[in-house]
Amino acid sequence: MNHSSRRIFLRNTTLAGSALIAPNFLSCQQKTTPVLETYKPQILSTWNHGMPANNEAWKTLQQTGNIVDAVEQGVRVTESDPDNLSVGLQGLPDRDGIVTLDASIMKGDGSCGSVSFVRQIKHPITLARRVMENTPHVMLSGEGARRFAIAEGFALETEQLSPKAEAAYQKWLENAQYKPVVNVENHDTIGMIGIDAEGRLAGACTTSGLAYKMHGRVGDSPIIGAGLYVDDEVGAATATGLGETIIKICGSFLIVELMRQGRSPQEACEETVRRLVAKSKATIKDVQAGFLAINKDGAFGAYAVQPGFNFAQHHPAKQALVDSQSYFPQHG
Ligand code: ASP
Repeated sequence: MNHSSRRIFLRNTTLAGSALIAPNFLSCQQKTTPVLETYKPQILSTWNHGMPANNEAWKTLQQTGNIVDAVEQGVRVTESDPDNLSVGLQGLPDRDGIVTLDASIMKGDGSCGSVSFVRQIKHPITLARRVMENTPHVMLSGEGARRFAIAEGFALETEQLSPKAEAAYQKWLENAQYKPVVNVENHDTIGMIGIDAEGRLAGACTTSGLAYKMHGRVGDSPIIGAGLYVDDEVGAATATGLGETIIKICGSFLIVELMRQGRSPQEACEETVRRLVAKSKATIKDVQAGFLAINKDGAFGAYAVQPGFNFAQHHPAKQALVDSQSYFPQHG
């Protein structure tokens, strides 16, 4: 076949191919591609405590126009809620009776900061932001993070447990069984992701971690890519639940990468939960983990291992708590 006849052959093959394939392909596309609801600006966050946190984030976004300020100020509300047992210094302690906190913050341009295993700091999310903005590092931990906080002018709070946490800890000590507790009173980690009207994304994640964890244990929340991941080119995701299972699959990063390959936020969350279930098969019945995602158009999704996960959604048309779907059905 000479050069020009080969070109004709290729052209004919392509035309014939598209004539045969196109109608099926189109009708299949029309049937299966759902129309996604999209909202910009929009704030999403995990659990019931997301409602007041979203309100603050929304107010901040209106005032400053800055989506990073919005997510930081939003989760600070949860960090200072005296009734919250899973975020901030009033949270449940580790098995030695000490509260240690984890937090991370990330912008859509890739800037990020986090702190882990931090004591006596009321707003670890703000400390994480200082790591992002005032150091050449991404993550500071333990005593180093505390020293950095002092250098940045943060006050050190008392290590005394809140009355609620003290009572729960004393009760736990009666058996002192080391068993991760998740889905406690329907309010665990707060993970918040937000998009502004121009499509800029940011996220924040903060927690006191698993109740009665081993001293020194760090969960997914301060690990960039596990508890939180944000990329303006694609979208953002955050996580809550048993951190060990989330770290193993780089949960939030995985969701963003699945969205990059064309999955919707909902599909990406579902695929990530399936991956998590497959990797933690032996213990999965005792595991709760939930994910929340948004893409750069403002479409959103959520999915969890067990029933009971919910999220707060705030956009111009709606401010509500929404129940997430789950991999396992409601127990009978
Ligand atoms: N993800 C948190 C951790 O593992 C806890 C939670 O959200 O329940 O520390």
